[in-house]
Amino acid sequence: MYQSEIGVYRMNFLEERILKDGIVKEGNVLKVDSFLNHQMDVALLDEIGKEFHRRFADLKITKVLTIEASGIAIAYAAARCFGVPMVFAKKAKSINIDGDMYTAEVESFTHKNKNQIIVSKKFLSKDDKVLIIDDFLANGCALQGLISITEAAGGSVEGIGIVIEKGFQFGGRSIRNLGYRLESLAIVDSMDAATKTIVFREQGT
Ligand code: 5GP
Repeated sequence: MYQSEIGVYRMNFLEERILKDGIVKEGNVLKVDSFLNHQMDVALLDEIGKEFHRRFADLKITKVLTIEASGIAIAYAAARCFGVPMVFAKKAKSINIDGDMYTAEVESFTHKNKNQIIVSKKFLSKDDKVLIIDDFLANGCALQGLISITEAAGGSVEGIGIVIEKGFQFGGRSIRNLGYRLESLAIVDSMDAATKTIVFREQGT
């Protein structure tokens, strides 16, 4: 619990876990390998899935969409709660791409390279009401790619659920400014590798 000027702020389960096990690296990277990105705490994933379901319960979602690799388990947990299929965009060599695929170009924040991402036209359609899920939001490239693939299919992006948003990078602001309903379970407002501090944005939900 934090005592702030506007009262008592109770951290959520994810913020507590990030403070306990997250490691702040140079270059604005938060490592959560011990519970989300390498080893996965499956009970925590279940809670994350339920929390996305609670936050988007008013929407008639038909499909959950994410990007490989780290998004897959999280999107699975959410799709399980909504009772709908989950589709993950694959990172592809351009040689594999034919007319049966929706494609987008995504620059990786962590690896600094560009990837073509693909989704087969069989698995997204104009009737789909899509919930996009990802592990992190930094500058928003991954989300922009998933949005453009959904919209190329004629589907609608009903909501976007992020596990950890780095609020000091511009992705969250630009996606919200475009009018998308974006919910992040934890928003890191600042973090410092030298002092090992992480400060979360207080959220009302
Ligand atoms: P964006 O496309 O929003 O710039 O970056 C989001 C993607 O980069 C996510 O899919 C995630 O895999 C990766 N990413 C961005 N920032 C971080 C970070 O601080 N830690 C980790 N582990 N992954 C990150």
